[in-house]
Amino acid sequence: MPISQRAANVAVSATGAITERAKELAASGLDVISFGAGEPDFPTPDHIVSAAIEAVRNPINHKYSPAAGLPQLREAVAGTATASALAVNAKQVLITNGAKTAVYIAFQTLLDPGDEVLVPAPYWVSYPEIIKLADGTPVPVFAGVGQGYKVSVDQLEAAVTDKTKALLFVSPSNPTGAVYSGDEVKAIGEWAAQRGLWVVTDEIYEHFTYGTEFASLPVTVPAAAERTIVINGVSKAYSMTGWRVGWLIAPPEAAAAAIRLQSQISTNVSNVSQRAAVAGLEAGSGHPDMMRAAFDARRQVMYEALSDIDGIVCPNPQGAFYMFPDVSALIGRELAGTKITSSHHLAELALEAAQVAVVPGEPFGAPGHVRFSFALDDADLQRGMDRFVSFASGR
Ligand code: PMP
Repeated sequence: MPISQRAANVAVSATGAITERAKELAASGLDVISFGAGEPDFPTPDHIVSAAIEAVRNPINHKYSPAAGLPQLREAVAGTATASALAVNAKQVLITNGAKTAVYIAFQTLLDPGDEVLVPAPYWVSYPEIIKLADGTPVPVFAGVGQGYKVSVDQLEAAVTDKTKALLFVSPSNPTGAVYSGDEVKAIGEWAAQRGLWVVTDEIYEHFTYGTEFASLPVTVPAAAERTIVINGVSKAYSMTGWRVGWLIAPPEAAAAAIRLQSQISTNVSNVSQRAAVAGLEAGSGHPDMMRAAFDARRQVMYEALSDIDGIVCPNPQGAFYMFPDVSALIGRELAGTKITSSHHLAELALEAAQVAVVPGEPFGAPGHVRFSFALDDADLQRGMDRFVSFASGR
């Protein structure tokens, strides 16, 4: 008997694959510099680690805890949302195993078979797969470099059908680093509210903006809040990707359904990790602010280096820690003695010939692009850029 169609059809996370290949080459002794990482290079702050050590020693944390999350963490999350003017009761918060699981549970909560979800492209690789796992149909709406990688209301309107149930919205964006202005968020939020669509809005990069201020969709458009699920977590803001704590904030009925789903999927998120997340949130934005400043400086270095390459069009990202140049003009050129046939091929060759790992645009719904992360230390970033610039300039 074969395995299920559902499982057979899931694509493996491409961002993970390139990072693993780079690690393999590094382990074999090669000096590989990876721009593949989707996580801060900083360690988790000490006060968070100490809170976790204390939690490990407390027997209360050795037992099952409520499926919705530890009350103290739910309160802390509701507090951050209230601070940002989204009035939230802790009952509307579900703590999940990383923000990725929050996205998964959000779509399991919202979609019936055949429901369509508008997904602005370039998109984070996991969104379409997660939507398909909920029997939904992702409908990509492409916005290229010419429009700063940001979709317009007209494009969204043109993609709507009578099956459209939801809009996926993410700003700052992975992979493009695009940040929608307050006015743009308002226009999209008002449109979604008028259309009666659900919005799943991923705010995981909210702390990392450089110039354009972050605007939360349900805060900017309160009329959209009653049909909005907010996704967030501590992974990026507190350098806690390995701890696996995220959450969703949903209107009461959807939140209750999401909690029921989690109770049958994973029971509860690790108590130790949840206690650590409380320590992160209670300490405020000092750590994310420190990282933001470091990322901003690296962003400039990377932007200047990439802008110098003939054939690369690269807007300076306003958020997250990614740069997403359009490299389509390099396709057809000969680099390192080989004719480039696609952005995937370019990424492969950069790794083999220049020992620099970048993620090809194809799995982000954007062939002809590559993604660079600037979450790596200053010296590596500079060395990696020098190598990539000589490689891509054919020197
Ligand atoms: N949303 C976006 C846009 C992301 O880039 C990521 C991580 N790559 C996530 C969600 C998932 O975060 P977590 O590690 O908390 O599952």
